[in-house]
Amino acid sequence: MDKTIPACEPYIEINVELCKGCKLCISICPKDVISISEKLNASSYHPAQYAGQGCTGCALCFYACPEPSAIRVVKP
Ligand code: SF4
Ligand code: SF4
Repeated sequence: MDKTIPACEPYIEINVELCKGCKLCISICPKDVISISEKLNASSYHPAQYAGQGCTGCALCFYACPEPSAIRVVKP
């Protein structure tokens, strides 16, 4: 996620090493702004990745994620 994010827009940060690629966050996101990376993390999972824009900060992904601290929702 190297795209520039407008300072006033909510966004998410995904800790790729804590993510297990279960896709629950992808299924629940109403804005369809999360996908699965083609890269592998250190545990050989394909982690979730943020599209870089379009997040509303609803936090549904945060509450759906079974991995503590894998997703952080930032609301500037
Ligand atoms: S906070 Fe809401 S809109 Fe933003 S990525 Fe998570 S589920 Fe999608
Ligand atoms: S719900 Fe959590 S563990 Fe599952 S793919 Fe999304 S960030 Fe990764």
